[in-house]
Amino acid sequence: MIAEKSAPVLAGLMMDRSLQISRLIDHAALWHGDVEIVTQRTGLPDQRSNYRQVRARSAQLAHALRQRLGVAAGERVATFAWNTQRHLELYYGVSGIGAVLHTINPRLFAAQIAYIVNHARDRFIFLDADLVPVLEPLAAQLPHVEGYVVLCAENDLPPTSLPGALAYETLIAGFPDDIVWPELDERTASSLCYTSGTTGNPKGVLYAHRSTLLHTFAQAASWQAGAGSQTSILPVVPLFHANAWGLPYLAPMQGSKLVFADPHLDPAALYDALEREQVTLSCGVPTIWLRLLEHLERNDLRFSSLKLLGVGGAAAPRSMIEAFEVKYDVRVMNAWGMTETSPACTFGIPKAEHDVLPQRIDYKTCAGRCLFGVELRIVDDAGVAQPFDGVAQGEIHVRGPWIASGYFEDEEATARGITADGWLRTGDIATVDPDGYVAIRDRAKDVIKSGGEWISSIDLENVAVAHPDVAEAAAIGVPHPTWSERPVLFAVPKAGRELDPAAVRAFLDGKIAKWWMPDEVIVVAELPHTATGKVSKRTLREQHAAALASMEETVDSLGDEVGKAKLYFEKRRELSS
Ligand code: AMP
Repeated sequence: MIAEKSAPVLAGLMMDRSLQISRLIDHAALWHGDVEIVTQRTGLPDQRSNYRQVRARSAQLAHALRQRLGVAAGERVATFAWNTQRHLELYYGVSGIGAVLHTINPRLFAAQIAYIVNHARDRFIFLDADLVPVLEPLAAQLPHVEGYVVLCAENDLPPTSLPGALAYETLIAGFPDDIVWPELDERTASSLCYTSGTTGNPKGVLYAHRSTLLHTFAQAASWQAGAGSQTSILPVVPLFHANAWGLPYLAPMQGSKLVFADPHLDPAALYDALEREQVTLSCGVPTIWLRLLEHLERNDLRFSSLKLLGVGGAAAPRSMIEAFEVKYDVRVMNAWGMTETSPACTFGIPKAEHDVLPQRIDYKTCAGRCLFGVELRIVDDAGVAQPFDGVAQGEIHVRGPWIASGYFEDEEATARGITADGWLRTGDIATVDPDGYVAIRDRAKDVIKSGGEWISSIDLENVAVAHPDVAEAAAIGVPHPTWSERPVLFAVPKAGRELDPAAVRAFLDGKIAKWWMPDEVIVVAELPHTATGKVSKRTLREQHAAALASMEETVDSLGDEVGKAKLYFEKRRELSS
């Protein structure tokens, strides 16, 4: 049961100024107005702006949204866009007027995009020009969308069949560049982000102004020297992924410079971007840093400004953390959280006595310790809280003012995701040691995470069993040196039928997003099942892991990441043939 809140017996005499997102950009424009916002695009000159200009343009956008598009508080305005200054303006222009910024991941499969837009009932979609061809074929399936705004100037508007397409610069032109933002109840919804679920249907996480500001304060207090007015931040994490881990709010709060890099960066271009803008803090999934590391090693490079890397979204390999910390003198902070948790819950900042080499690396390899504001417990299958002894494992449950209390208009998912006593079930299995270090050990949810993006194993299996010769299929994520995980599909042939792995892959081609394609299709006579008749993914993973274990030892002894990845694949191919 959740305890009821009661009215205060004696109310404090402090101002009840609401915690609202518009105050962040007002603060940044006033106190850090000259601090730069840089957008880099391959082949184009860098676009340089600052907080004062971003606020002015967010104000113009806010007026245009209300007066030209008739957007009212509570209505959803979607973005389908990469990291740019204009996308940042949408963060403030949309949420600032009490409307909801719905950030959509352009890498999703068409059917998922259509589901999300329709479920959110987005009225308008603001999209990057290069993504126009992605939405054009979908537009007919999006009945609630009244118009599309392409994030460009009038001259750059591509010819398009998108109904009512308008250039962003034309939309905002002529509107006043100042605004008195409306005073909002701080519990007003501010942004919406869908995350992949075990059932296959994405689930909407609806953030509030209050939750966002409290999360930002907590981050500001915990990044230590990482973020401040002398900091230059490059979020590799996309603005459509859990609000880019909060960085578009943290940077204006702290007066940090923001650098938005090209989304299709290879490691050489990322290194160049970090150096050119003298970036001190960058954040992203381990895949990005592993590839950057390989580039540094190959070309014998060093950083001239980078001090801190924020890593999350998947487990970061120890070898990677060690290389950055020891060889490149860059601090690594591994963080754990999820879209539902805004996302920060634990930060990998070791206690003083552990913050010395070599043990520092071990402490940094785990997911870190809890931020103030987040309550965390681990529970076993029977729902019993487990001790923090470093041995007992359990599913992580969290609660707090920036943790989702349910999913947007999805009672079923809410009932599954929130316990009766008001905690969020995370689906991550962890141990917590007596010093409070959380270590993620396993994942209970049936999804695969590759390069920081979710792959729904259920969606993959559903497509596979449509193959005329497949009786049953099960997809699991297996560890991968660069992508954290890659999907492997086990398929059982129908009685009396032969199954060719290549034919199954060919069948999947075109029916799933390219990067969902299983690295291997393994044909098996039968799949392990649980007592309730479900495929036991855990057993499957264990069986697969056992088969891989011996070769992983050989691979580990190789030491270099490229060699490792190559051998890993060779061995895996042998195994599946
Ligand atoms: P998302 O909602 O896409 O941000 O994904 C959240 C999920 O990513 C978590 O529930 C974990 O399964 C995984 N994850 C996030 N951070 C870490 C981490 N530091 N180590 C291991 N897994 C992580």
